[in-house]
Amino acid sequence: MTKPASPATPENHKPSNFLRQIIENDLDKGTYASRRWANSPGDASHHAAGAPDPAKIRTRFPPEPNGYLHVGHAKSICINFGLAKEYGGVCHLRFDDTNPEKEDTEYVNSIIDAVKWLGFSWSQAGNDKAYQASDYFDFMYRAAEALIEAGHAYVDEQSAEDMRANRGDFGKPGVDSPFRSRTVEQNLTRFREMRDGKLDDGAAVLRAKISMQSPNINMRDPAIYRIRRATHHHTGDTWCIYPMYTFAHPIEDALEQITHSICTLEFEDQRPFYDWLMERLCESGLLAAPSPKQYEFARLNLTYVITSKRKLAQLVSEGKVSGWDDPRMPTIVGLRRRGYTPESLRLFADRIGVTKSDSWIDYSTLEGCLREDLENKAHRGMAVLDPVKLVLTNWAEVFGTDDHTEICSQPALPHSAIAEGQTPPPDRTFLIGKEVWIEREDFEEVPPKGYKRLFPGNVVRLKGGYVIECTGCVRDAEGNVTEVHATVFPGTKSGTPGSDSVKAKAAITWVAVADGVSAEVRLYDRLFAEAHPDAGGKDFLQSLNPDSLKVVTAYVEPSLAQAQPDQKFQFERFGYFVADRLDHLAGAKPVFNRVTGLKDSWGK
Ligand code: ATP
Ligand code: MG
Repeated sequence: MTKPASPATPENHKPSNFLRQIIENDLDKGTYASRRWANSPGDASHHAAGAPDPAKIRTRFPPEPNGYLHVGHAKSICINFGLAKEYGGVCHLRFDDTNPEKEDTEYVNSIIDAVKWLGFSWSQAGNDKAYQASDYFDFMYRAAEALIEAGHAYVDEQSAEDMRANRGDFGKPGVDSPFRSRTVEQNLTRFREMRDGKLDDGAAVLRAKISMQSPNINMRDPAIYRIRRATHHHTGDTWCIYPMYTFAHPIEDALEQITHSICTLEFEDQRPFYDWLMERLCESGLLAAPSPKQYEFARLNLTYVITSKRKLAQLVSEGKVSGWDDPRMPTIVGLRRRGYTPESLRLFADRIGVTKSDSWIDYSTLEGCLREDLENKAHRGMAVLDPVKLVLTNWAEVFGTDDHTEICSQPALPHSAIAEGQTPPPDRTFLIGKEVWIEREDFEEVPPKGYKRLFPGNVVRLKGGYVIECTGCVRDAEGNVTEVHATVFPGTKSGTPGSDSVKAKAAITWVAVADGVSAEVRLYDRLFAEAHPDAGGKDFLQSLNPDSLKVVTAYVEPSLAQAQPDQKFQFERFGYFVADRLDHLAGAKPVFNRVTGLKDSWGK
C-alpha cells in the first residue's frame, strides 16, 4: 500500500496537472486579460471604473466558518494559494457565511491563523482584508430581482413534499409547479413580501426557471432564496430570506473577479447552473464578463483519518479527544501541535497532486513528508522512554571518585544533513557519570538469539560515551530488573584517540542520571485503528484506536529539556518529537509529543 517516496520536488519545479494546464492556456489566450479590478469586490459598473486587473488570475479559498480546518482544507489552500502565487495572481480568503447559523469568530480567527501558518497570504496592494460573503447580500438580492424581471425566476409556494415529488429523479423528468407561470409582477410582489417578512419560514422559495425536464436534477428549477428567520452574525436581523449556496457562490466569485473557481468533485453537477447564472447576470449587465469558471478536483481522502467537520466536532464534543487541537486530530491546529510543519504539509499537497478522480492517500505518505522535511532540520538528541538505571561499578576505580562526571559531545545534526557551505550547528554536550538511564529493553539477562545489546559478558558502547561490558543486574522481590550493572573501559570515550580500542557489538542510547531531565512524553498514534473509519456509513467511534495515546515519564538530555515550545527533534532511534506548544514550559516538566517514528511501522 505504501508508495515509495519520490524525491522532494523543488517548489519552482512542480509537476504539471490539469489545473495548471487550464490556467496556462487561459494566460496564453488572454481569456481574462481584459478584466478590470476596482480594488474591492463589486458589480460590473464598479469594476468598469477600475484599472486593468494587475492580478493575472484570481482564485479563492472559501471556507464556511463552522469549524476548524483540516488536512483536506490544507490541500485546497495549497492548491488555491499556490496556483495564484505561481502565476502572478491573488487568492482571496473568503468566509462563506451565507448560512446564518453556526458561525463563530473563534472559527474565523482559527482559519486566518491556519492559512497564514501554512505560509500563504491574501494581501494585495497592501490590503489584507479577508472577504465575507454576507457583505454581498444586497447584491444577491438585486440579482434575484433581476432574474425575476427577465423571467428567469419565480416564487414557488408548493409544499415541500410536492416540490420534492415534482422534482422527479434520475429516471423520471420533473413536473412544472403550478406557480411556475406567475407573471413578473406577481413574482416581484411575492418575492418582496418574502423579504419583508410577510410569509412564514418555509412557505415559499424563489426558484430559477430553467427546465423541470433537464436530465441534470440540479437544473430542475433549483431554489435560490429561502425564508429563514435567523439572526446572522454580521447582518443581524436585516434579512429573513437567505440565498442558497448554489446561487450565492457563483455570485461571490464574480463580484470578486475570480477567474478560476476551484472546488471539489461533488460540485461537478452544479457547474451547469453556475454557468447558467453567470450568463443571465452578465446579460442583465449586473456582472462583468468574462465570468469565472468552476473546475473540480478530487478531495483528499486519507486513510485512518476523518475529514468531515461535523464528525470532528463530534469527537471534540464527546470528549474523545482533548479539543480541536488535540495532536491526534487531523485539523491544522492538531497537526501543528503534533509537530507537523508548514513545509511538510505543502510538500504533501504537492506530492499527492491534483486529480479528477477520487482515491485514498495512505497515511504513511503524510508521515513520509514530515520525515523528509525534518530529516535535515531537526536536531538530534537522546531520550530514554522506558528507563532503568545502569550502574558502572568500576567508575571510582577508573576515575578516582563515584561523583566524577565527564563531558561528552555529539553533533546536533549528522554530517549528511549539512548542505555544502552550510555551517553545522554547535555540538550538543551532556554528562556521563557512574549512573545512567538506559532503555529497559536494552538489557536481557538471557539474550534471545541475535540480541546484541546488554547481557552479561557483552560489550556495547553508550552512544557518544564509553564502551562498557555488562556484568549482571539486580532484581526486586517480584523479579523486575531494578539496576543493570556494567564496567567501563577507560580511554574509550567517543571522539578521543583510542576510542575504538575495544570493539563494541552495538551502540545504545542513554541519558546520565547527573544531568538527565525528567520529561513527560506523549506517545501519539493513529486516532483510528481502521483505514476507513467512516466508510459505508459505519459508526466511526467504533474504530477509535484504544492505544492512540500513551504517556510515559522519560529522561531527556539537557539540550532537549532546553527546547522552545514547538521545536522539533529527532530522538535518536525513536523518531520525531516536538516540544508541546502549550504545555512544554507551562508545568514542572518538559513535555514532548511524538510526531512519527523513524520508519513507517504501522501494522508491522
Ligand atoms: P466539511 O464537509 O468538512 O464541512 P466543507 O467542504 O463543507 O468540509 P468548507 O468550509 O465548505 O468545508 O470548505 C472550504 C474549501 O475546502 C472548499 O472549497 C472545499 O472544497 C475544500 N475542502 C474541504 N474538504 C476538502 C478535502 N477533504 N479535500 C480537499 N478540499 C477540501
Ligand atoms: Mg461546506
